[in-house]
Amino acid sequence: MSEPIVKYNNVTKYFDDLMVLDGIDFEIQPGEKVALVGPSGSGKTTFARLLMTLEEITDGTIEVEGDYLWHEEDSNGELKPASTEHLRKVRSNIGMVFQHFHLFPHMTVLENIIEAPVTVKGIDKKEAIKDGKEMLEKVGLSDKADTYPAQLSGGQKQRVAIARALVMKPKVLIFDEPTSALDPELVGEVLDVIKDIANQGETSMLLITHEMDFAREVADRIAFFDAGKIVEDGPPSEILYNPQAPRLKEFLERFM
Ligand code: ADP
Repeated sequence: MSEPIVKYNNVTKYFDDLMVLDGIDFEIQPGEKVALVGPSGSGKTTFARLLMTLEEITDGTIEVEGDYLWHEEDSNGELKPASTEHLRKVRSNIGMVFQHFHLFPHMTVLENIIEAPVTVKGIDKKEAIKDGKEMLEKVGLSDKADTYPAQLSGGQKQRVAIARALVMKPKVLIFDEPTSALDPELVGEVLDVIKDIANQGETSMLLITHEMDFAREVADRIAFFDAGKIVEDGPPSEILYNPQAPRLKEFLERFM
């Protein structure tokens, strides 16, 4: 098997006294699409936010392509907390799409998309515009380049947010309940765009979702979270149709 692109080793996360992740081991292979499912409050978002460096790790390590994310090795090979520069460098391989889009309201669609390539990656503006337009085409919004977010539907906003994440060419793309803030009639267009990206293959994906049909269609694996642990992890055919853990059986009865 190839080197995993992401590797969690005994990852634990506390918020004050509250243990939210309880010593999790987990891997994503290059190009693999993994859905994270489980009850609300079971730790899925925190698990993903640690990879995006939006929350600080309490204990354990996370590696991205063999580089520690939260740590650096000193000259004796001992792990010490990562410098900001190291963290930023390793983290640049990861992209995230949020529930509530997080677009800059004062920027046009295209400006939103080229902001990070130009300011974070230092890419030439002309080049960034070309890439940005290509990504807009991918999400079916070529005609909205000069529009402001307020003039878009929720589904269109989320498609812009997806284009903005894609333009950074992340090796791992995280989707945190990307359709849960949308009116039901707008969910399909966003799921279709995510399916297209998944079918193109090369980007590894972590998908937090309550849409079980979507998880079944898109994911190579489903990991079931309960109370800060991954209780069951396997192909959709096993997790959805031959669940073992009582908590997973209960969960599926409610969601399918
Ligand atoms: P899920 O995504 O499965 O719904 P979360 O990772 O959002 O779960 O939350 C897991 C637990 O961590 C919950 O009990 C939640 O209240 C708590 N939590 C999440 N973020 C914070 C925070 N910033 N401060 C304190 N507690 C938090």
